[in-house]
Amino acid sequence: TTHLVWLRNDLRVNDNLALHAACRDSDAKVIALYLATPAQWQQHDMSPKQAAFIHASLLQVQRALAERGIELHYQACHAFSDSVDALLQFCAKQQVDQLFYNYQYEVNERQRDAEAEKRLDDAGVICQGFDDSLLLPPGSVQSGDRSMYKVFTPFSKAFVRRLQQGLPECVPAPKAREGAPLKASPIPAFDYPTEDFDQDLFPPGEAAALKRLRHFATQPVIDYPAKRDLPALDATSRLSVYLATGVLSPRQCLHRVLHEHPDALDNSRAFTWLNELIWREFYRHLLVAWPALCRHKPFIDWTRNVEWQRNDAHFDAWKAGKTGYPIVDAAMRQMKALGWMHNRLRMITASFLVKDLLIDWREGERYFMQQLIDGDLAANNGGWQWAASTGTDAAPYFRIFNPTTQGERFDEKGDFIRHYLPELAGVPDSDIHQPHVWAEKHHKKLDYPAPIVDHKVARKKTLDAFERAKSAA
Ligand code: FAD
Repeated sequence: TTHLVWLRNDLRVNDNLALHAACRDSDAKVIALYLATPAQWQQHDMSPKQAAFIHASLLQVQRALAERGIELHYQACHAFSDSVDALLQFCAKQQVDQLFYNYQYEVNERQRDAEAEKRLDDAGVICQGFDDSLLLPPGSVQSGDRSMYKVFTPFSKAFVRRLQQGLPECVPAPKAREGAPLKASPIPAFDYPTEDFDQDLFPPGEAAALKRLRHFATQPVIDYPAKRDLPALDATSRLSVYLATGVLSPRQCLHRVLHEHPDALDNSRAFTWLNELIWREFYRHLLVAWPALCRHKPFIDWTRNVEWQRNDAHFDAWKAGKTGYPIVDAAMRQMKALGWMHNRLRMITASFLVKDLLIDWREGERYFMQQLIDGDLAANNGGWQWAASTGTDAAPYFRIFNPTTQGERFDEKGDFIRHYLPELAGVPDSDIHQPHVWAEKHHKKLDYPAPIVDHKVARKKTLDAFERAKSAA
């Protein structure tokens, strides 16, 4: 018999549920397939840095599979619909008896998989899907009335209770099969724009991801609650790209932290970080409960009525990091440079776009996807809707970040700001969050803009817009 593993967002050999299941029968011939879908990626706004990261990770997983006697086949298609045709043809040609794959939860992905399963079933191929990218499957953590939680904290509490009843186990990488090792044939470049990324910061492949995880799970995870909000420090795990592309699994993260800190689920300091993994689960579970979230719909319906402003000059200034608010600008330039932005800064910049510029959150959501190496629909949509006060568990719309005081709180001396805004190198610490005031007072000329909006005025305008929308509902 021939078993096919259809690799997608699970580019690893360790703790890969579909791969593990496919290899259980030691007599089966196991092959793997990756189908590139650049037209679909374009439609999903995948960033060129993420495409480059995926390509590099694919080469590594191909090598790891070849060492184990599993050949990875590669084929370029256009959109998801073409990939289903290609999958069917491949299965026929290779006489595949069983298909193994790990679920994806976004609507287009689910539609593709439903179609693939139906057509393969007609063709006599048995399909098995796995909830691999999550600690607990969607729908398995519900409130008393058997519906998905709309607020994070009770979800997290119920989630932890579930984990305490039994942990999802990690499965090992498959053993070498007959014929191993194979020679890996070259995988051509994607027909998609790619962009270099910082390989020291985000070395591709699972060995690098596991190394980073092992290090982070020692002392840094304990220091995380105290340092996580300070963007000048390297105090967060920086594992998001690996989790978003499936180079690493959340089970590996959980077990590694528990290995180092066995009490991590019992409200120890290490729990703060595990709780971030539970945020990741929350947003994915939500996508399944409310698929409309994949279709640009706000979770809170009346927020549809907010009259957003179209202002290209403001939008461009935000994208370029030239709003005149140093913490916002440094953050936007960090994203441009690395394809990654610190979580506190994602909140500040998202809030600024929506609440200070009154620009539709969907514009920002889209731009983030186009830039981020760790772009992930569920987390990105969740983060944007949270910041825009349109989502589940959102901050109420009248709670609006002040970009100047956020900077003062989280980058007090401006270390982070100066790193990305060298034009502010000469501004003293005490004035770094309002350089235009300092420049005016001391008759200095700065190559840096004055604020493009007055926060107080903008805040009032936004409150009015939300109030009008609410009363119109
Ligand atoms: P750590 O602080 O070390 O957290 C560990 C892991 O937990 C992360 O790698 C990530 O997988 C998960 N995680 C952490 N915070 C969140 C969160 N709020 N929601 C969901 N998962 C979380 N994360 C993405 O992975 N992709 C995105 O496209 C994305 N877009 C965002 C947009 C906005 C507006 C906001 C506010 C947040 C967004 N996040 C996104 C969540 C978060 O900012 C990043 O996951 C985090 O900054 C990645 O850095 P890290 O790996 O060092 O995180």
